[in-house]
Amino acid sequence: MEYEIRFGQVQRSKYDCLLFDLDDTLYPLSAGLATAVLKNIQDYMVEKLGIEESKIDDLCNLLYKNYGTTMAGLRAIGYDFDYDEYHSFVHGRLPYENLKPDPVLRSLLLSLPIRKVIFTNSDKVHAIEALKRLGLEDCFEGIICFETLNPTHKSTVSDDEDDIEFLGSTQLSRPLSTSPKIFDIIGHFSQPNAESTGLPKTPIVCKPSESAIEKALKIANIDPHRTLFFEDSVRNIQAGKRVGLDTVLVGKSQRVKGADYAFESIHNLKEALPELWETDKVAEVNYSGVAVETSVTA
Ligand SMILES: [Mg+2]
Repeated sequence: MEYEIRFGQVQRSKYDCLLFDLDDTLYPLSAGLATAVLKNIQDYMVEKLGIEESKIDDLCNLLYKNYGTTMAGLRAIGYDFDYDEYHSFVHGRLPYENLKPDPVLRSLLLSLPIRKVIFTNSDKVHAIEALKRLGLEDCFEGIICFETLNPTHKSTVSDDEDDIEFLGSTQLSRPLSTSPKIFDIIGHFSQPNAESTGLPKTPIVCKPSESAIEKALKIANIDPHRTLFFEDSVRNIQAGKRVGLDTVLVGKSQRVKGADYAFESIHNLKEALPELWETDKVAEVNYSGVAVETSVTA
């Protein structure tokens, strides 16, 4: 009996959860969705928020850099808009046809005897559509997405306590670019010695904020010290590392600070980490002829 207990400890796999980003991680950047998303965000800022076209590039860069997503930054500096409307504008016109079924990745994922969870800043509609196009919709235990981390997701278009959906309006967003309520982030950073401290806070919870990652881990009951996190974004990898996750940078062949591994493609998973499939290897060797059930399925 003593032997069995000791043996059980040896046999225990290093990981009991694999946490995957979705966009540009489970499919390559070359699919062109990221470029289309950026274009749609910029169109939204001009058409729906009334922001001057000449400011868009600088504003996008500053918001993305300081707030994790442009959307989070737009809310922080004072723009008010409906999150669902934003997401449908940004994702509704994406070239989803570029995402083809990936049977190789599908069989890799389905053969892994470990919990698998998606963690994306995108909204649920986009996450489901992308996974469906890739043929991966049934490969994961669950999806942590925008709505998971931002459950009271209606913005302040209505202050009705019942949060009745505001239907039938095509002008949920007001062109407020000239309003004194908008924080001038471009002006802020054009000053000498401007710092990120003192910037207005965003109400949106998203990667790479450490508290967003911690919240996601808590919701899905994930122990960061027994989880491997797959991401294409270097700053998300580094934030993940700070909260205790082991990390795989996907889409790059060179590791960066904070990345335990780097894969050119998610398809390199099995050749780079064959041990993920070997949770019962020791048991098979020692209990020759005895079938051992995989014990780490969720
Ligand atoms: Mg990504």
